[in-house]
Amino acid sequence: MIDRIPFEIKNIMHKIRNEGFTSYLVGGCVRDLLMDREPNDFDIASNAMPDDIIRIFGSENTCPTGIKYGTVTVFTESMQAEITRYRCDGEYSDFRTPDEVTFVDDIHADLVRRDFTINALALGIDGEIIDDFGGIEHIRSKTISCVGEPCKRFSEDALRILRAVRFASELDFEIAPETNAAMLALKDNLKKISAERINKEFVRIVCGRNSRRVLSRYSDILAVFIPEIKKSVGFEQYSPYHKYTVWEHTAKAVSKAADKPLVKLTMFFHDISKPDSFYLDETGRGHFKGHGKVGAAAAKEIMKRLKFDNKTISDVTTLIYFHSEDIESDADIKKLLSKLGEELFFALLDVKRADNSAKNDFVLEELSEIDEIEKNARHIITSGECYSLRQLAVNGNDLAEIGITGRNAGVTLDTLLNLVIEGKTENTRSELISAALEILRKG
Ligand code: ATP
Ligand code: MG
Repeated sequence: MIDRIPFEIKNIMHKIRNEGFTSYLVGGCVRDLLMDREPNDFDIASNAMPDDIIRIFGSENTCPTGIKYGTVTVFTESMQAEITRYRCDGEYSDFRTPDEVTFVDDIHADLVRRDFTINALALGIDGEIIDDFGGIEHIRSKTISCVGEPCKRFSEDALRILRAVRFASELDFEIAPETNAAMLALKDNLKKISAERINKEFVRIVCGRNSRRVLSRYSDILAVFIPEIKKSVGFEQYSPYHKYTVWEHTAKAVSKAADKPLVKLTMFFHDISKPDSFYLDETGRGHFKGHGKVGAAAAKEIMKRLKFDNKTISDVTTLIYFHSEDIESDADIKKLLSKLGEELFFALLDVKRADNSAKNDFVLEELSEIDEIEKNARHIITSGECYSLRQLAVNGNDLAEIGITGRNAGVTLDTLLNLVIEGKTENTRSELISAALEILRKG
């Protein structure tokens, strides 16, 4: 176990010991080392005060990242670790951060403040593990269980409710019954948590390997900050293509999506407006005409509220807009490549793969068609076939020479590109100039 601690982190702990202090690795890194997972970050708890840590490592190698809470970050050659004074937390009045913290003398008192038993383990430099709450057993049984009384712990800090859902998704763990009941009872306290903090956990829930079961089971919790999903839960589709309700389809599509946050997020939101676009025809079959377009607008509002960055919002909503677009020919491929660019085009194919993997079984056959589209698109790109204005053999200056300027030039270039993509005009200067003159003549 200790041989799995990176050398630079061990060095930090040795230096602290040489100065007469104690220290332990704590939190998620111990859990991850025990589970053979790569830790996200290294947290160290110590009885050294922040001033001591800054003195030991030098101000040039440290940053007082949370002095109020006793935290200093130490930087080594290629790593960093957060070193926090053993502490216990005082009262919580904002459902998120303790009003004040008290420094305590030993690691046992520090572990009591931690959220879940699997996160309340400490690992010493000689390999000794402190496990006061049965965390090792819970890692073995894949259980998320609060340290202490769940209702009290979730009332102190509502973000823990979402952290539990996130760990269930990322680690593929189950939430213990008492912890589960308290989460559901107190879920509305999540409304008091900032969008930025919700965002981070939400993305990790969606990207987790157990996302399907977690989304399916915890829609009530997600609906506290994305109430728009409520309509999808239990919504029957009345379509031969679908064997799941909108929400179960969404959950499966997220889990089947390529391991990329952009694609996972798109799948989460892609059918958000299906219930609003639903129409049952006289044969009893359901249709959702235009749900991509409406869904893109709805997702934009939600993502803005959840403080996603503009690029992610733009990419996700573009993919939602086009997610059910038919791609039947090379011309269709080129038109989409032109509108989306290469990166988003291939992401769109991933979106279509995930979508089709979560419908009725016969739809799976379409996966090979998507592979074929991908092959053709890559061929189009590598062979230099024209699909973008950049590749067109004329540009705005050429059109200006024949008297087409301003907005007209833009519209004409788009028309010329379409003619080339559809194989109606060759991509040569002379052909395109004649075609442009023809367009000009017709007005
Ligand atoms: P990961 O690093 O994979 O996100 P983690 O469990 O290490 O998971 P961090 O946010 O890095 O999570 O926090 C480190 C540790 O601090 C946790 O393992 C836990 O012991 C404690 N902790 C973090 N957030 C809370 C919280 N909201 N309430 C109580 N303890 C917490
Ligand atoms: Mg961590």
